[in-house]
Amino acid sequence: MASQRQINVGGVLIGGGAPVAVQTMTKTETANLPETMAQIRRVAEAGADLVRVAVPRAEDVEALKTIVAQSPIPIIADIHFNHTLAIKAIEAGAHCVRLNPGNIGGPEKVAEVIKVAKAHGTPMRIGVNSGSLPAHLRDLEYSNPVEALVSAAVGFVELMEQLDFTDFKVSMKSTSVPNTIASNRLLSERIPYPLHLGITEAGTKWAGSLKSAVGLGTLLADGIGDTVRISLSTFHAEEEVKVAWEILKALKLRERGPVLIACPTCGRLQFDMDSVVNEVERRLEAYEDPIEVSVLGCGVNGIGEARHADFGISGAKDAGVVFAKGELIRKVKTENLVDALFEEIDKFYEAGRKV
Ligand code: SF4
Repeated sequence: MASQRQINVGGVLIGGGAPVAVQTMTKTETANLPETMAQIRRVAEAGADLVRVAVPRAEDVEALKTIVAQSPIPIIADIHFNHTLAIKAIEAGAHCVRLNPGNIGGPEKVAEVIKVAKAHGTPMRIGVNSGSLPAHLRDLEYSNPVEALVSAAVGFVELMEQLDFTDFKVSMKSTSVPNTIASNRLLSERIPYPLHLGITEAGTKWAGSLKSAVGLGTLLADGIGDTVRISLSTFHAEEEVKVAWEILKALKLRERGPVLIACPTCGRLQFDMDSVVNEVERRLEAYEDPIEVSVLGCGVNGIGEARHADFGISGAKDAGVVFAKGELIRKVKTENLVDALFEEIDKFYEAGRKV
Protein backbone atom coordinates (compact mmCIF):
# COMPACT_ATOMS: atom_id res chain seq x y z
CA MET A 1 0.00 0.00 0.00
CA ALA A 2 1.11 3.59 -0.54
CA SER A 3 2.91 5.20 2.36
CA GLN A 4 0.81 7.23 4.76
CA ARG A 5 3.57 9.53 5.90
CA GLN A 6 5.22 12.25 3.89
CA ILE A 7 8.61 13.88 4.11
CA ASN A 8 9.90 17.03 2.47
CA VAL A 9 13.35 16.85 0.88
CA GLY A 10 14.32 20.40 -0.02
CA GLY A 11 10.81 21.16 -1.30
CA VAL A 12 10.21 17.79 -3.00
CA LEU A 13 7.48 15.86 -1.21
CA ILE A 14 8.00 12.12 -0.84
CA GLY A 15 5.16 9.78 0.12
CA GLY A 16 1.68 10.48 1.43
CA GLY A 17 0.20 10.60 -2.09
CA ALA A 18 2.85 12.89 -3.67
CA PRO A 19 3.95 12.03 -7.23
CA VAL A 20 6.67 9.35 -7.30
CA ALA A 21 9.94 11.31 -7.23
CA VAL A 22 12.76 10.50 -9.64
CA GLN A 23 16.28 10.50 -8.27
CA THR A 24 19.73 9.47 -9.33
CA MET A 25 23.27 9.61 -8.03
CA THR A 26 26.28 11.41 -9.44
CA LYS A 27 29.19 9.28 -10.58
CA THR A 28 31.87 11.94 -10.29
CA GLU A 29 34.24 12.47 -7.39
CA THR A 30 32.04 14.80 -5.37
CA ALA A 31 34.89 17.17 -4.51
CA ASN A 32 35.50 17.74 -8.22
CA LEU A 33 33.10 20.66 -8.34
CA PRO A 34 33.11 21.44 -12.09
CA GLU A 35 32.37 17.82 -13.05
CA THR A 36 29.91 17.20 -10.23
CA MET A 37 27.95 20.38 -10.93
CA ALA A 38 27.90 19.64 -14.68
CA GLN A 39 26.46 16.19 -14.00
CA ILE A 40 23.90 17.56 -11.55
CA ARG A 41 22.72 20.08 -14.17
CA ARG A 42 22.45 17.33 -16.79
CA VAL A 43 20.37 15.04 -14.54
CA ALA A 44 18.14 17.94 -13.51
CA GLU A 45 17.55 18.74 -17.19
CA ALA A 46 16.74 15.08 -17.84
CA GLY A 47 14.05 15.28 -15.14
CA ALA A 48 15.64 14.25 -11.84
CA ASP A 49 13.70 15.65 -8.89
CA LEU A 50 16.53 14.85 -6.47
CA VAL A 51 20.18 13.88 -6.74
CA ARG A 52 22.47 12.03 -4.35
CA VAL A 53 26.20 12.55 -4.06
CA ALA A 54 28.72 10.25 -2.36
CA VAL A 55 30.44 11.80 0.65
CA PRO A 56 33.30 9.47 1.63
CA ARG A 57 35.98 12.11 2.43
CA ALA A 58 36.41 15.42 4.25
CA GLU A 59 36.93 17.26 0.94
CA ASP A 60 33.57 15.95 -0.31
CA VAL A 61 31.74 17.33 2.70
CA GLU A 62 33.55 20.62 2.12
CA ALA A 63 32.38 20.66 -1.53
CA LEU A 64 28.83 19.89 -0.39
CA LYS A 65 28.29 23.48 0.79
CA THR A 66 28.89 24.85 -2.72
CA ILE A 67 26.93 22.02 -4.36
CA VAL A 68 23.88 22.67 -2.16
CA ALA A 69 24.10 26.39 -2.92
CA GLN A 70 24.41 25.95 -6.69
CA SER A 71 22.30 22.86 -7.43
CA PRO A 72 18.96 23.39 -9.20
CA ILE A 73 17.53 20.33 -7.34
CA PRO A 74 17.77 19.12 -3.72
CA ILE A 75 20.91 17.21 -2.69
CA ILE A 76 21.05 13.98 -0.71
CA ALA A 77 24.39 13.15 0.92
CA ASP A 78 25.32 9.47 0.81
CA ILE A 79 27.26 8.40 3.89
CA HIS A 80 28.71 5.07 4.92
CA PHE A 81 30.71 4.09 8.02
CA ASN A 82 31.49 7.57 9.31
CA HIS A 83 28.93 9.28 11.55
CA THR A 84 31.06 12.43 11.77
CA LEU A 85 30.71 12.92 8.02
CA ALA A 86 26.94 12.47 8.35
CA ILE A 87 26.83 15.22 10.97
CA LYS A 88 29.02 17.50 8.86
CA ALA A 89 26.85 16.83 5.77
CA ILE A 90 23.77 17.95 7.71
CA GLU A 91 25.64 21.04 8.89
CA ALA A 92 26.74 21.71 5.29
CA GLY A 93 23.06 22.02 4.36
CA ALA A 94 22.37 18.68 2.63
CA HIS A 95 18.61 18.41 2.06
CA CYS A 96 18.65 14.76 3.15
CA VAL A 97 21.25 12.30 4.38
CA ARG A 98 21.31 8.64 3.48
CA LEU A 99 22.86 6.26 5.95
CA ASN A 100 22.72 2.60 6.82
CA PRO A 101 22.28 2.48 10.63
CA GLY A 102 23.94 -0.96 10.53
CA ASN A 103 27.33 0.29 9.37
CA ILE A 104 27.72 3.64 11.11
CA GLY A 105 29.26 2.40 14.36
CA GLY A 106 26.37 1.46 16.65
CA PRO A 107 23.12 2.96 18.01
CA GLU A 108 24.91 5.68 20.00
CA LYS A 109 26.48 7.10 16.85
CA VAL A 110 23.15 6.88 15.03
CA ALA A 111 21.60 8.81 17.94
CA GLU A 112 24.24 11.55 17.61
CA VAL A 113 23.45 11.96 13.90
CA ILE A 114 19.70 12.01 14.52
CA LYS A 115 20.10 14.67 17.22
CA VAL A 116 21.77 16.97 14.66
CA ALA A 117 19.23 16.05 11.94
CA LYS A 118 16.41 17.04 14.28
CA ALA A 119 18.06 20.33 15.15
CA HIS A 120 18.45 21.19 11.44
CA GLY A 121 15.09 19.74 10.32
CA THR A 122 16.95 17.44 7.90
CA PRO A 123 15.14 14.30 6.75
CA MET A 124 17.04 11.01 6.48
CA ARG A 125 17.00 8.00 4.24
CA ILE A 126 17.49 4.85 6.25
CA GLY A 127 19.01 2.29 3.92
CA VAL A 128 19.31 -1.45 4.27
CA ASN A 129 21.29 -3.47 1.71
CA SER A 130 21.25 -7.22 1.25
CA GLY A 131 25.05 -7.12 1.31
CA SER A 132 25.36 -5.35 4.66
CA LEU A 133 22.75 -6.79 7.03
CA PRO A 134 23.39 -6.68 10.80
CA ALA A 135 25.35 -9.71 12.11
CA HIS A 136 22.39 -11.18 14.04
CA LEU A 137 20.43 -11.56 10.76
CA ARG A 138 23.11 -13.35 8.73
CA ASP A 139 21.70 -16.86 9.39
CA LEU A 140 18.19 -15.71 8.57
CA GLU A 141 19.58 -14.17 5.38
CA TYR A 142 20.49 -17.67 4.13
CA SER A 143 17.18 -19.32 5.04
CA ASN A 144 14.82 -16.39 4.34
CA PRO A 145 16.50 -13.39 2.70
CA VAL A 146 13.24 -11.47 2.37
CA GLU A 147 12.40 -11.73 6.06
CA ALA A 148 16.02 -10.84 6.91
CA LEU A 149 15.82 -7.61 4.87
CA VAL A 150 12.44 -6.67 6.31
CA SER A 151 13.54 -7.47 9.89
CA ALA A 152 16.59 -5.26 9.46
CA ALA A 153 14.50 -2.41 8.08
CA VAL A 154 11.85 -2.71 10.80
CA GLY A 155 14.61 -2.83 13.44
CA PHE A 156 16.09 0.43 12.13
CA VAL A 157 12.65 2.05 11.96
CA GLU A 158 12.10 1.11 15.63
CA LEU A 159 15.47 2.64 16.49
CA MET A 160 14.40 5.91 14.79
CA GLU A 161 11.10 5.90 16.68
CA GLN A 162 12.91 5.30 19.99
CA LEU A 163 14.92 8.41 19.16
CA ASP A 164 11.61 10.20 18.60
CA PHE A 165 12.47 10.78 14.93
CA THR A 166 9.98 10.13 12.13
CA ASP A 167 11.29 12.37 9.35
CA PHE A 168 12.69 9.59 7.16
CA LYS A 169 12.14 7.26 4.23
CA VAL A 170 13.30 3.69 4.03
CA SER A 171 15.07 1.72 1.33
CA MET A 172 15.71 -1.99 1.16
CA LYS A 173 17.99 -2.85 -1.71
CA SER A 174 18.74 -6.27 -3.10
CA THR A 175 20.34 -7.41 -6.35
CA SER A 176 17.50 -9.95 -6.63
CA VAL A 177 14.36 -8.72 -8.36
CA PRO A 178 12.00 -11.25 -6.67
CA ASN A 179 13.46 -10.44 -3.23
CA THR A 180 13.12 -6.70 -3.85
CA ILE A 181 9.47 -7.13 -4.81
CA ALA A 182 8.62 -9.48 -1.93
CA SER A 183 10.46 -7.49 0.75
CA ASN A 184 8.99 -4.13 -0.25
CA ARG A 185 5.49 -5.61 -0.38
CA LEU A 186 5.96 -6.94 3.15
CA LEU A 187 7.56 -3.77 4.48
CA SER A 188 4.84 -1.53 3.01
CA GLU A 189 2.32 -3.41 5.17
CA ARG A 190 4.42 -3.07 8.30
CA ILE A 191 5.50 0.57 8.31
CA PRO A 192 3.80 3.85 7.33
CA TYR A 193 6.98 5.61 6.12
CA PRO A 194 7.78 6.48 2.48
CA LEU A 195 9.72 3.87 0.52
CA HIS A 196 12.68 4.47 -1.79
CA LEU A 197 12.79 1.77 -4.48
CA GLY A 198 15.76 0.48 -6.40
CA ILE A 199 17.42 -2.69 -7.63
CA THR A 200 20.96 -2.44 -6.40
CA GLU A 201 23.75 -2.99 -8.94
CA ALA A 202 21.14 -3.67 -11.64
CA GLY A 203 23.81 -3.90 -14.34
CA THR A 204 24.38 -2.51 -17.80
CA LYS A 205 22.10 -0.03 -19.48
CA TRP A 206 20.12 -2.65 -21.36
CA ALA A 207 19.85 -5.49 -18.80
CA GLY A 208 19.71 -3.11 -15.83
CA SER A 209 16.88 -1.09 -17.32
CA LEU A 210 14.83 -4.24 -17.89
CA LYS A 211 15.51 -5.62 -14.39
CA SER A 212 14.56 -2.27 -12.90
CA ALA A 213 11.41 -2.00 -15.02
CA VAL A 214 10.27 -5.45 -13.92
CA GLY A 215 11.10 -5.01 -10.23
CA LEU A 216 10.12 -1.40 -9.70
CA GLY A 217 7.27 -1.53 -12.20
CA THR A 218 5.64 -4.43 -10.36
CA LEU A 219 5.75 -2.55 -7.06
CA LEU A 220 4.71 0.81 -8.50
CA ALA A 221 1.76 -0.78 -10.30
CA ASP A 222 0.59 -1.96 -6.86
CA GLY A 223 0.95 1.57 -5.49
CA ILE A 224 4.12 0.73 -3.52
CA GLY A 225 7.06 3.13 -3.68
CA ASP A 226 7.41 6.88 -3.30
CA THR A 227 10.74 7.62 -4.96
CA VAL A 228 12.84 5.61 -7.41
CA ARG A 229 16.46 5.37 -8.44
CA ILE A 230 17.60 3.24 -11.36
CA SER A 231 21.17 1.97 -10.84
CA LEU A 232 22.99 1.44 -14.12
CA SER A 233 26.65 0.79 -14.88
CA THR A 234 27.04 3.87 -17.03
CA PHE A 235 28.90 7.05 -16.32
CA HIS A 236 25.94 9.03 -17.65
CA ALA A 237 23.61 9.42 -14.68
CA GLU A 238 21.02 11.11 -16.92
CA GLU A 239 20.44 7.68 -18.55
CA GLU A 240 19.17 6.43 -15.18
CA VAL A 241 16.78 9.36 -15.02
CA LYS A 242 15.44 8.67 -18.51
CA VAL A 243 14.78 5.02 -17.63
CA ALA A 244 12.98 6.01 -14.41
CA TRP A 245 10.76 8.39 -16.39
CA GLU A 246 9.93 5.74 -18.98
CA ILE A 247 8.78 3.42 -16.17
CA LEU A 248 6.62 6.13 -14.57
CA LYS A 249 5.21 7.20 -17.95
CA ALA A 250 4.43 3.60 -18.95
CA LEU A 251 2.43 3.17 -15.73
CA LYS A 252 0.76 6.57 -16.29
CA LEU A 253 1.99 7.65 -12.86
CA ARG A 254 3.59 10.83 -14.19
CA GLU A 255 3.77 12.69 -17.49
CA ARG A 256 6.87 14.23 -18.97
CA GLY A 257 7.31 15.08 -22.62
CA PRO A 258 6.07 13.24 -25.69
CA VAL A 259 5.27 9.54 -25.89
CA LEU A 260 6.54 7.79 -29.02
CA ILE A 261 4.72 4.71 -30.24
CA ALA A 262 6.30 2.70 -33.05
CA CYS A 263 5.40 -0.61 -34.65
CA PRO A 264 7.98 -3.41 -34.43
CA THR A 265 8.11 -3.64 -38.28
CA CYS A 266 7.81 -6.87 -40.24
CA GLY A 267 8.21 -8.16 -43.81
CA ARG A 268 5.75 -5.55 -45.12
CA LEU A 269 8.13 -2.69 -44.33
CA GLN A 270 9.40 -0.90 -47.44
CA PHE A 271 11.33 2.10 -46.14
CA ASP A 272 14.11 2.87 -43.64
CA MET A 273 11.90 2.90 -40.56
CA ASP A 274 14.85 2.65 -38.16
CA SER A 275 16.23 6.03 -39.25
CA VAL A 276 12.75 7.57 -39.30
CA VAL A 277 11.92 6.47 -35.72
CA ASN A 278 15.27 7.69 -34.42
CA GLU A 279 14.83 11.03 -36.17
CA VAL A 280 11.29 11.42 -34.77
CA GLU A 281 12.51 10.52 -31.27
CA ARG A 282 15.37 13.03 -31.50
CA ARG A 283 13.16 15.87 -32.75
CA LEU A 284 10.47 15.15 -30.15
CA GLU A 285 12.98 15.95 -27.40
CA ALA A 286 12.36 19.63 -28.17
CA TYR A 287 8.70 19.34 -27.05
CA GLU A 288 7.50 19.43 -23.46
CA ASP A 289 3.86 18.39 -23.86
CA PRO A 290 2.87 14.74 -23.31
CA ILE A 291 1.96 14.56 -27.00
CA GLU A 292 1.54 10.99 -28.35
CA VAL A 293 3.15 10.32 -31.74
CA SER A 294 2.83 7.07 -33.65
CA VAL A 295 5.13 5.72 -36.39
CA LEU A 296 3.76 2.82 -38.43
CA GLY A 297 5.78 0.82 -40.91
CA CYS A 298 2.89 0.37 -43.35
CA GLY A 299 -0.81 1.01 -43.72
CA VAL A 300 -1.94 -2.61 -43.50
CA ASN A 301 -4.13 -2.06 -40.46
CA GLY A 302 -5.14 1.42 -41.53
CA ILE A 303 -4.28 4.55 -39.60
CA GLY A 304 -7.23 3.75 -37.34
CA GLU A 305 -4.81 1.44 -35.49
CA ALA A 306 -3.14 4.57 -34.15
CA ARG A 307 -6.32 6.61 -33.67
CA HIS A 308 -5.44 7.31 -30.04
CA ALA A 309 -2.20 9.01 -31.07
CA ASP A 310 -2.29 12.79 -31.36
CA PHE A 311 -0.16 12.61 -34.51
CA GLY A 312 1.43 9.89 -36.59
CA ILE A 313 2.97 8.81 -39.82
CA SER A 314 2.69 5.66 -41.83
CA GLY A 315 5.34 4.98 -44.48
CA ALA A 316 5.56 2.99 -47.68
CA LYS A 317 8.04 2.57 -50.55
CA ASP A 318 7.53 5.97 -52.20
CA ALA A 319 4.83 7.87 -50.34
CA GLY A 320 3.37 7.88 -46.87
CA VAL A 321 0.73 9.72 -44.86
CA VAL A 322 0.58 12.06 -41.89
CA PHE A 323 -2.43 11.63 -39.65
CA ALA A 324 -3.89 13.06 -36.45
CA LYS A 325 -6.29 11.23 -34.13
CA GLY A 326 -6.84 8.59 -36.82
CA GLU A 327 -7.74 11.14 -39.52
CA LEU A 328 -5.62 11.49 -42.67
CA ILE A 329 -4.10 14.99 -42.94
CA ARG A 330 -1.78 14.73 -45.92
CA LYS A 331 0.07 12.44 -48.28
CA VAL A 332 3.79 13.09 -48.81
CA LYS A 333 6.87 11.49 -50.34
CA THR A 334 8.42 9.05 -47.87
CA GLU A 335 11.63 11.11 -47.74
CA ASN A 336 9.59 14.12 -46.52
CA LEU A 337 7.51 12.23 -43.94
CA VAL A 338 9.34 13.38 -40.82
CA ASP A 339 9.45 17.04 -41.90
CA ALA A 340 5.74 16.93 -42.76
CA LEU A 341 4.91 15.38 -39.39
CA PHE A 342 6.69 18.14 -37.50
CA GLU A 343 5.15 20.85 -39.70
CA GLU A 344 1.72 19.57 -38.67
CA ILE A 345 2.69 19.35 -34.99
CA ASP A 346 4.05 22.92 -35.07
CA LYS A 347 0.94 24.22 -36.87
CA PHE A 348 -1.17 22.64 -34.12
CA TYR A 349 0.76 24.46 -31.40
CA GLU A 350 0.96 27.73 -33.36
CA ALA A 351 -2.84 27.65 -33.47
CA GLY A 352 -2.71 27.69 -29.65
CA ARG A 353 -4.15 24.21 -29.26
CA LYS A 354 -3.25 21.70 -26.54
CA VAL A 355 -3.26 17.91 -26.41
FE1 SF4 B 1 4.35 -4.76 -40.07
FE2 SF4 B 1 2.94 -2.72 -41.00
FE3 SF4 B 1 2.31 -3.77 -38.58
FE4 SF4 B 1 4.56 -2.34 -38.88
S1 SF4 B 1 2.44 -1.58 -39.13
S2 SF4 B 1 4.37 -4.32 -37.85
S3 SF4 B 1 5.19 -2.87 -40.93
S4 SF4 B 1 2.17 -4.78 -40.57
